[in-house]
Amino acid sequence: MSYCGFFWVSGVRRFCRAPFSYSLPAVTVGRECPAVSARLVARGPRALQNLPPSFSPFPPPPTPGWPGGIVALSSTAAPPDSSPGPPPESEASGAMKHLPYFCRGEVVRGFGRGSKQLGIPTANFPEQVVDNLPSDLSTGIYYGWASVGDGAVHKMVLSIGWNPYYKNTKKSVETHIIHTFKEDFYGEILSIVITGYIRPEKNFSSLDALISAIQDDIEEAKRQLDLPEHLKFKEDNFFHMPESKIMNGH
Ligand code: ADP
Ligand code: MG
Repeated sequence: MSYCGFFWVSGVRRFCRAPFSYSLPAVTVGRECPAVSARLVARGPRALQNLPPSFSPFPPPPTPGWPGGIVALSSTAAPPDSSPGPPPESEASGAMKHLPYFCRGEVVRGFGRGSKQLGIPTANFPEQVVDNLPSDLSTGIYYGWASVGDGAVHKMVLSIGWNPYYKNTKKSVETHIIHTFKEDFYGEILSIVITGYIRPEKNFSSLDALISAIQDDIEEAKRQLDLPEHLKFKEDNFFHMPESKIMNGH
């Protein structure tokens, strides 16, 4: 499943039968990056092959878990991909070039997709934090370290995906902390460092497949974070810095 509005990505190409066009609005990406905009005009079936995996002409239905979510078996969407192996080069490099990425913000209410009911709650960042992400940071599933307030630093998995509630023009960032908390922590400051990338968003044919993928993501994150190159960030001074409300960057 995909947490956090980790709507475990869905490339919902299923209804694209007619010529269409869409554009992503300009996204402001902080001091050093100019605002950029991307426009794609696709005509006919051939153009569909060039669409990014997260493209959807319609918002996907809200589904619990990671971005993407579940795609009906009868659709023409790409088949669910359960094969292990390295993520596609372009997405992996779009992710890795920005890592490690430090980020901090208040925990806000999400979309109520039932992530918590599935045992995988995802703490959502506010729009402001998401808007400050590098615009070319790949959507998909990442891992790293997280701390709530001045609490202990825990392993986490994180989903960066397109937010269906904004017609897929805005990203959402949701963190599942691999720890059992006694209480919710809405309103607290969540600090994270993203250190690695697992995979792009993708489609799932059933809720079970989605849940299973998220569980695999969690296990992969746990393994990777024990490696010295990731473990070292657990002790980073960032987690002991006086809290500012919002912070993004390296
Ligand atoms: P929402 O749709 O409001 O984000 P979720 O079902 O995704 O609701 O639950 C997320 C909330 O659960 C977080 O904002 C946080 O307060 C709480 N929570 C409890 N344990 C965790 C955890 N291990 N990781 C993330 N959030 C957690
Ligand atoms: Mg959530």
